[in-house]
Amino acid sequence: MTESDAASSNPKDINLCTLSQRSIDWLFSADPTLRVRSSMAMLAVLLMLGGAGVMLWLGYTGLAPLQAMVWWSVVAVGGLTVMAALVRCGWSARWRDPSMTFQQILWAISCSAVAYVLAAEARGIVPGLLAVTMLFAALNLRAKQIVAVSLYALGAFSLAVLFIIQLDNSTEPALEIAYALVLVLMLTGCMLLSLRLYQLRGRLRKQRQELAVALKENRELASRDALTGLINRRHMRELLELEQRRCVRGVRTMLLAQMDIDHFKSINDTYGHGVGDMALKAFAQTVRDNIRNSDVLARWGGEEFVLLLSDTDVAGAMLTLQRVRAAVEGTTMPDAPPGLQMTVSIGLAEHMAGEMLEVTLDRADKALYSAKRAGRNQVRFGELAAPAGWTPRQAAALCEEDAL
Ligand code: GH3
Ligand code: MG
Ligand code: MG
Repeated sequence: MTESDAASSNPKDINLCTLSQRSIDWLFSADPTLRVRSSMAMLAVLLMLGGAGVMLWLGYTGLAPLQAMVWWSVVAVGGLTVMAALVRCGWSARWRDPSMTFQQILWAISCSAVAYVLAAEARGIVPGLLAVTMLFAALNLRAKQIVAVSLYALGAFSLAVLFIIQLDNSTEPALEIAYALVLVLMLTGCMLLSLRLYQLRGRLRKQRQELAVALKENRELASRDALTGLINRRHMRELLELEQRRCVRGVRTMLLAQMDIDHFKSINDTYGHGVGDMALKAFAQTVRDNIRNSDVLARWGGEEFVLLLSDTDVAGAMLTLQRVRAAVEGTTMPDAPPGLQMTVSIGLAEHMAGEMLEVTLDRADKALYSAKRAGRNQVRFGELAAPAGWTPRQAAALCEEDAL
């Protein structure tokens, strides 16, 4: 055991871990989507708290009226806190924008415009705070919303500038105009860059979707046989291994059938490869039509197929396979040349919990070849090799012991 293992296995540490995890879940929610939304809303509150700290400092040092700064801080932080609470408790989920970013940004812009008036000579700090707000817009809003908040900011700050020029005689109009021009520059720049970022965000989203589709198609191609549409040998092995593990845990039993189309080479030789391919497709369709949805058919290679039968016993599986055999014998292909007929030989084996997959497949293969030797177009069950007088169940128990 490593040192960190030892530490994490300490019950006190485990309690602390679950406690801190619970606190984080309580604060931001355990739901991943809501967690992102509420953490962003709380980040906005924290940033506004920082802004309030600066404003209070201005008030405390006498650069701005203290009482106005206190009121401003309470209202600005309080408004965003209420919105963050609405997001966190899920109340905003019924809205078109459940993260309430648009409303938060409008609120922050309004507060910044008021701060621009209240901060008097120190109003030069406000555009910095406004830039942080516009960063939220750039990362979260849609194009129309970006333009709307930018115009709203331009309007709100124009009012603020007019208010200052009209009411405050001590200000220097030229300086106010310079401040206002910087604000206009900053807001226009922010808006154009935000729109560009919005375009890039859209492109990225589209690429991600295309990538997900391509990945799905690739997975499909890697696990399917192109001719018959059945799953291929590689994917079937994965499924069989999964099923084998379930068998070991005693959850279920597994029956495997090996199927081989009889004299397929002569179909190719007589009618050509194209017809041979058509016959393979027709065979796959016929088998699929005669098994349950829960059974899995795979193309094992060439004209050989493996069928995994679940939730049935040997007797039930034999009945199914006889039905499949008869259906293949009776298969008619619409475009096939006259006289073309197909038959299949099938070997069935029961997987015994704990035995290797190869052993079961080998038993099914031996049963298949005994069906071939017996004249083809037959179904055979591969008995377990057991001492004389033993039942298959006793032999299976022996296999399990060997495996352990
Ligand atoms: P048996 O009854 O003993 O199984 O005889 P068979 O002729 O079916 O067996 P054999 O193994 O001699 O021949 C299998 C043939 O299957 C040979 C191969 O060309 C053909 N085959 C394998 N894959 C395909 C395929 O994708 N398309 C076509 N048309 N033929 C294929
Ligand atoms: Mg073969
Ligand atoms: Mg064959």
